[in-house]
Amino acid sequence: MLLHQIRDWTCAHCRAIAEQHVLHAAPEVEKVPLPDGHEKWQETGERIRAFVVCGNCRQPSMLVLQPAKGFFNDAGHFVQVIQNPAAHRKFLNRMRPLRDLFDKPNPLTTERMYWAVPANECGEVLNKIYTVKQQFPDSAIQRPDAEHLPADIDQELDELVQVLHVSPRLTTIACRRILEKACKTKLKNAFSPKKPLRELIDAALTALETTRQISDWAHQLRILGNEAVHESDEPITADEAQQAYDLTRLMLDLLFAYPVKIAALRNESV
Ligand SMILES: [Zn+2]
Repeated sequence: MLLHQIRDWTCAHCRAIAEQHVLHAAPEVEKVPLPDGHEKWQETGERIRAFVVCGNCRQPSMLVLQPAKGFFNDAGHFVQVIQNPAAHRKFLNRMRPLRDLFDKPNPLTTERMYWAVPANECGEVLNKIYTVKQQFPDSAIQRPDAEHLPADIDQELDELVQVLHVSPRLTTIACRRILEKACKTKLKNAFSPKKPLRELIDAALTALETTRQISDWAHQLRILGNEAVHESDEPITADEAQQAYDLTRLMLDLLFAYPVKIAALRNESV
């Protein structure tokens, strides 16, 4: 085990609780404004970003690590952690001055400052020294934003997420329940609650306003595009350009990507 590792971490790719080996680490940076209006990237001096690879599936992630003030070593002594990003960079990347690795002076170590990764020393378990503050990609399960959901559906979705990778049967039952509840909520009880889910799905999707909303939005973009082409005096703002891009993405997803995704999901489930 050459590389340092964070143990017992849920991998965002394979979802195993596995060790994450540190391939490379660098101090965290952020954009700061300069007096002349430009911006520059500057070290925050706090956290470290570590590029890691999962011990189980070998897929890469990026972890944001917060160094601890200190930790108790195996002998029970408190060891202070140096709060210096450069020191963390050297430690995490296993960089050691070559001269520290030789007992006697050596031409390689005396003439110039060389760095080396000692391959005969084991990497360390980092859990005591660092707390993982963020992870990219996130291992949290992707779900619709709670703020857009009715409270009862949001709560059931929370329960569903807890069993998603634990029980396929409970997951499927919960999905069906939520689907039924969502259709009934959308239909505002216009349908008898005793109607079968088959009819509720059709009725809820037929009553959906989303298609009309997208069409209204697309027409606004068409008009805005006309103005841009004909060089109207009104400038196009960055927000309008972003909206135009968001809508274009949505339209391309709806027209091309979703049909393929849905067909693939159906084939998988047959
Ligand atoms: Zn993995």
